[in-house]
Amino acid sequence: VPELPEVETIRRGVVELVEGQRLRSVEVLERIHLLKNCTEGQLKRRLEGRLLTDVGRRGKYLLFDFEGALLVLHLRMSGRLLIVPACHTRMVLSFEGGLALHFDDARRFGMAYLTRRRDLEALAPIGALGIEPLTPGYTREEFEALLARDQEIKRLLLDQHKLAGLGNIYANESLFEAGIHPLRAASGLRSSERTRLYRAIPAVLERAIAAGGTSMRSYQMPSGELGRFQENFSVYDRAGSPCPRCGTAIERLPQGGRSSYFCRKCQPMPPLSG
Ligand SMILES: [Zn+2]
Repeated sequence: VPELPEVETIRRGVVELVEGQRLRSVEVLERIHLLKNCTEGQLKRRLEGRLLTDVGRRGKYLLFDFEGALLVLHLRMSGRLLIVPACHTRMVLSFEGGLALHFDDARRFGMAYLTRRRDLEALAPIGALGIEPLTPGYTREEFEALLARDQEIKRLLLDQHKLAGLGNIYANESLFEAGIHPLRAASGLRSSERTRLYRAIPAVLERAIAAGGTSMRSYQMPSGELGRFQENFSVYDRAGSPCPRCGTAIERLPQGGRSSYFCRKCQPMPPLSG
């Protein structure tokens, strides 16, 4: 599942390839699952002939701005944006420069919305998103407010309504970097731990973006290149391997239907008190 660094890497790839170009045509080959609030006809009328003036991102959503008309795309489980067609093309954006973006999506969980730039926050899935870790809105005060709850810290990090863009990989890596056990209660974190976590999240995301994201399963850049961050995992998917800091074997535990990975020495679970 692409997380913030993968979507950001794709965004940068799209900017490089087609930003500033005029859309010649949009073709939808799979309407039923993909188009959430519009028809293919509406997409054609609103987007064709317009310049792609900006490519933005909110959480894991890509925002294609065609002179104020916005195509919002979420890749979900298996979605890819490629310059060459693959097996499961669902939508094709063809530009006058000759390049085309093919939205390929084997599992059909991808979602596309049509809106306007000025109405973006009114679009339900966007308006509900939490703080963006790599923007000026990510402040210590906002972060502290999130931690006020009695919720397991790992689950809180994955909640897109609290923090936008983090998925299982980067939540695990951020908790390791901050030395915090995934089952700890958010409200029980000490001040020093809050500081470490507040800093670890953007640091881990920046490093992942610099590596081009993580290439597991279906993710790749529009150009077909692969990310390399999986070579830098400290704990994610490394159960049984030595902790890069202390050598203790990394452990895996099921948490909320997903796997959490941690080092019991570097991320201790404090004894229950009371
Ligand atoms: Zn360790």
